Amino acid sequence: MKYVCDYTDELGSLGNRVGARARALAEMASLGFPVPPGFAISNVACRRFLETGDLPDEAWSEVTDAIEVAVAAFRRVGPPRPVLFSVRSSPAIDMPGLFNSALYLGATDSALEELAVWGGETLALHSRLGFLKSIGRLRGLSPVRYSSVVAEVAGVAARQDWSDAETAAVCDAYEALVVDESQRPIPGDLEGQLLEGVEAVFASWDGLEARRFRARRGVSDDDGMGVIVHPMILGDVGDSGAGVVFSRDPGDGNAAVTGSYSPGVSRPTSGVSETALDFLAAADSAAHEKLTAAVLTLERARQDMMRLDFVREQGKLWMIEARPAERTPEAAVRVAVDMVDEGLTTRETALRAVDPERLTGMLHPRLKSEPDRDAIAHGTATSPGAAAGKLVFSTVAAVAAAESGERAILVLREVLPRDLDGVVTAAGLITSHGGGTSHAAVAARAAGTPAVTGIADVIVTSDSVTFGGRVLTGQDSVTIDGGSGAVFAGMLEIDQPPAGSSLDRLLTWADEVRRLGVWANADTAHAALAARAAGADGIGLARSEYMFQGERLEVVRRILLSEEGRERDDALEILESMQVEDFEHLLEAMDGTPVVVRLLDPPVHEFLPSRLDVEQQIAARLGAGEGVEDLELLDAAIEQWSEVNPMLGLRGVRLAVVIPEIYRVQVLAALEAVRRRLDAGGDPRLEIMIPLVSSVEELHLVRDMIEEEVHSAGRLLEVAIGTMIELPRAALLAGELALESDFFSFGTNDLTQTTLGISRDDAEEAFLRSYVEQGLMATNPFQRIDADGVGRLIEQAIAAGRDANPGLEIGVCGEHGGDPVSITHFHKWGVDYVSCSPPRIPIARLAAAQAALDEDSGRQL
Ligand code: PEP
Ligand code: MG
Repeated sequence: MKYVCDYTDELGSLGNRVGARARALAEMASLGFPVPPGFAISNVACRRFLETGDLPDEAWSEVTDAIEVAVAAFRRVGPPRPVLFSVRSSPAIDMPGLFNSALYLGATDSALEELAVWGGETLALHSRLGFLKSIGRLRGLSPVRYSSVVAEVAGVAARQDWSDAETAAVCDAYEALVVDESQRPIPGDLEGQLLEGVEAVFASWDGLEARRFRARRGVSDDDGMGVIVHPMILGDVGDSGAGVVFSRDPGDGNAAVTGSYSPGVSRPTSGVSETALDFLAAADSAAHEKLTAAVLTLERARQDMMRLDFVREQGKLWMIEARPAERTPEAAVRVAVDMVDEGLTTRETALRAVDPERLTGMLHPRLKSEPDRDAIAHGTATSPGAAAGKLVFSTVAAVAAAESGERAILVLREVLPRDLDGVVTAAGLITSHGGGTSHAAVAARAAGTPAVTGIADVIVTSDSVTFGGRVLTGQDSVTIDGGSGAVFAGMLEIDQPPAGSSLDRLLTWADEVRRLGVWANADTAHAALAARAAGADGIGLARSEYMFQGERLEVVRRILLSEEGRERDDALEILESMQVEDFEHLLEAMDGTPVVVRLLDPPVHEFLPSRLDVEQQIAARLGAGEGVEDLELLDAAIEQWSEVNPMLGLRGVRLAVVIPEIYRVQVLAALEAVRRRLDAGGDPRLEIMIPLVSSVEELHLVRDMIEEEVHSAGRLLEVAIGTMIELPRAALLAGELALESDFFSFGTNDLTQTTLGISRDDAEEAFLRSYVEQGLMATNPFQRIDADGVGRLIEQAIAAGRDANPGLEIGVCGEHGGDPVSITHFHKWGVDYVSCSPPRIPIARLAAAQAALDEDSGRQL
């Protein structure tokens, strides 16, 4: 047959075209498990249907033949009753909940009459209702329409308490509604009902959610899917019911068969309830034993933890589906590692079995259960983890709350350098502005603080926040979920991440396999120690501007606002002495591994007070009859430095052109820190990196200065000097820049911003979400590297750079360095290391191992 195969016999040439569900049924049939007799229709028929709107005649005639075979087979092995059919999707990979299914097909008047004679009127009515609900769903009626019919006809009584007359009345009323709404009669014969069912399931391949899911997973829209058709097993007649068994506990991965069983229903509900499975063990120990043996056999055959769905009809057991079990992240890791220990799988299989992104779920605190309330706001899920606490609206209040042992959620418009203490000490962070690579996001991730940023429709003041009309103050508490971007009113319960020896072992295996270094973005000794503990091979980015907080901010302001001369020199001296200690602590924490210190980068305005604040102070002083000369000078200086577009303004290496002393004192401080570490017997490996370079001349300027200082340090210091590549021009001139560089580090946040011409601070909120939703972009380019555009620049730059300077070391330190899919690209493009925030290091280690395994096995991304 060309389109249809009997899965209980063999899949034949259609094996690859019928999808995972059909193959699992075939596998179970071949193992002698009791599966309902039935057949699969291939994705070729699906594709033809999607192209033309009709199933090919040949396919349909194969289906009608197969129905006859299935009915005859069911009569031999099943109960003596009319056969009703189920039609379910069978895509190549599991796409849960995305497609239609059709149940109770064949519930014709005569079949229902026979069913009533065989199993009673109630069974026949339930089957009719099941059929009508299924048809209503296929024709697009919302479940709410059904609920209103029920409310009108049967009132509030639970369904099991309805009289037969009430069920019949609900059926009549709902049938009338379905016909009326869809303007189509309901087919009265089995063939007509099956045709509608099969076509509706195929049509759901094109649903919006399904298309989005495929885009995220890289599955082609052209694939289409198979469907399976088999007699329904009725779990609501006599001693019947349905359930699921798992070969291990999907909650924690414990190696014990678990599951659930619900008497009186035809479709298993998922979840684990040992008691419920014990109930089956007591009621039907033979079925319980068979299920346990079957799910363990499947686990051994598939080398994966399995889930098996079953239905019992009048004491007879049927297995209707098997698939790899859904599981929590900790179960995924534990199962992968345990299976190696049990000799079932290899380390390579274990490394491939765990989706790196899912590790986030076990590394951070999370909501204890599904929230019992709706979110009051949604923003960008910026830094994972859940946190609950009282609202505070300034860094000072966040630090005070932390000192008094209170958990606080810091709410800001955006994060400025002065707020970093607040971000570190707060339990969680909310900002109204800023996307996933804004400084708010970067700071929160580096500190491991759960954060939701870029919330539309929110107003933040100095003592309140308004979420879509709902005003909250310091008296209120909220809970945030930095993994989903949701904000909830009140305190929800939070679970701490489990300790994970299995994870440690898996990551050790990953380290043995990976060829890509995993370094950390860390700016403090505290973050560096956390990074080291998480397995970082070095620091790929210490953003030196993040070292200027609190009182230190004042020093930078004095440098910026004073004229050349004594005042500026004093401030520079203070800056230098402060930085020596910063760098010394970093080098100590990372002794023996590289530490890349990046010279000052951010827009100057971030260091200055807001003009509004200063003007308010002027007004207050004038009101009190006090002098305002100093404030007026400050106001004028702020105006002088203010830029319409600061992200394209006086940043990075441009500072070295305008105020060269700043970079010089940073370099002096770093060299002094190296000297101190050497004197202490340490092994400091300092590297200095220059940000936002676009020309060889800029690089020369700073490199010469650094070399001069290294030389005059009077001691043979080895300091690698490198440039960030974060502007398209730098990527295009990579060959020339490489001649002056010991290393390149791709700043993919800015490189994405400048290559696509979209703001990393505003675009996500403003329009990127719509782009992704409408399928104009597969994913957010600030989260996942834009391989076709930015990626092409990176590849060309790496090739030109290595050509000019074969010893050039190449890293990536933008946020993409912690994204598993981007990591696979970086590996392929020949990057030496990625650098990411400390919490993402385990994810990057595993992703890097998978990239190496993929390359070894010749798999394409
Ligand atoms: C970058 O642009 O990718 C980068 C790492 O620098 P920053 O995020 O500090 O601008
Ligand atoms: Mg940058």
